[in-house]
Amino acid sequence: MARDKGNNKKLTGRLLDWFDREGRSLPWRTKARRDPYKVWLAEIMLQQTTVMAVIPYFEKFLELYPNVKTLARAPLEEVLKNWAGLGYYARGRNLHKCANIVANDLAGQFPEKEEQLLTLPGIGPYTAAAIAALAFGQPATVVDGNVERVMARLFAVPVPLPGAKSRLHDLAASLTPDDRPGDYAEALMDLGAAVCTPNAPDCPHCPLSGFCRAFKQGLQDTLPRRDKRKARPTRHGVVFWLEDKGRVLVRRRPEKGLLGGMLELPSTPWREGQKQSFHSHAPLDIQWTPVSGEVRHTFTHFHLRLTILTGQGHVKGGSWLKKDQLLAAGFPTVMNKVIARVLETRS
Ligand code: SF4
Repeated sequence: MARDKGNNKKLTGRLLDWFDREGRSLPWRTKARRDPYKVWLAEIMLQQTTVMAVIPYFEKFLELYPNVKTLARAPLEEVLKNWAGLGYYARGRNLHKCANIVANDLAGQFPEKEEQLLTLPGIGPYTAAAIAALAFGQPATVVDGNVERVMARLFAVPVPLPGAKSRLHDLAASLTPDDRPGDYAEALMDLGAAVCTPNAPDCPHCPLSGFCRAFKQGLQDTLPRRDKRKARPTRHGVVFWLEDKGRVLVRRRPEKGLLGGMLELPSTPWREGQKQSFHSHAPLDIQWTPVSGEVRHTFTHFHLRLTILTGQGHVKGGSWLKKDQLLAAGFPTVMNKVIARVLETRS
């Protein structure tokens, strides 16, 4: 059960004092009122990606597109190329779509309320709350995995995730202050990242240890509980490197679905189970030569193992790129691994 209001206020006050002293300095954070464009850009990039990985992309995007209008004006192709490496290309496409709506339909102004933000492409409940709280000081409660972990421990919630989600959200909401909701959200994120970490939380140095039920009961290493997850399956596929006069055959993936709209080398479908005949998917009926080993990549929902076959020949009507331009062409990471492997075997 959540504590009384007075105690909650003390807890939040302690957290904010700690944040004022120890909070991380990140490129999208500013002491003054936060810029909604920067908050939005950072939050979209941070979905499924770590802070360290996001920083160089954030800085590059700000340099290329200093505001929502310049981002909206940039061609989608170019934006996706600059996005390559952040993964989840649907996010890159939605970023551009959202920028266009804000720039063209909303006179360049992001909406302030969660409900309005939720209507924009690529903005789910977490991101809407984050933008509302961080950029506009709305009393929205921002809950990600870090916050869930801190709440489960602070209140010693025994119910496992994901079933405990709404309970943990309510607990985080019960602590959200009216005056500094954005700082509160960032403080919890920082506490979860630096002190109340998934493994080995640093309770002796935690500003909230005096309030923490898990710490008092010695449960910090066992919370939050989780329902057992299904193991990630492994899918297999064959990729074709077809070369003709120094150029390589490429194609574009369908707009919808995994890596939607991105460039790739032709391949078989990626399926579970080892054996699959590649002949009907090969772009040309020729003698293919395998490249030794396989390329491995992990997506959110599955591991992928790719075998590479190389060959020489031409097909009419295909798209071709010069071999030495492939790595700069904006392929997704998994395809860059394939390209790098083939180029490596040739050097
Ligand atoms: S005392 Fe330990 S378990 Fe509790 S919030 Fe702090 S770091 Fe997390």
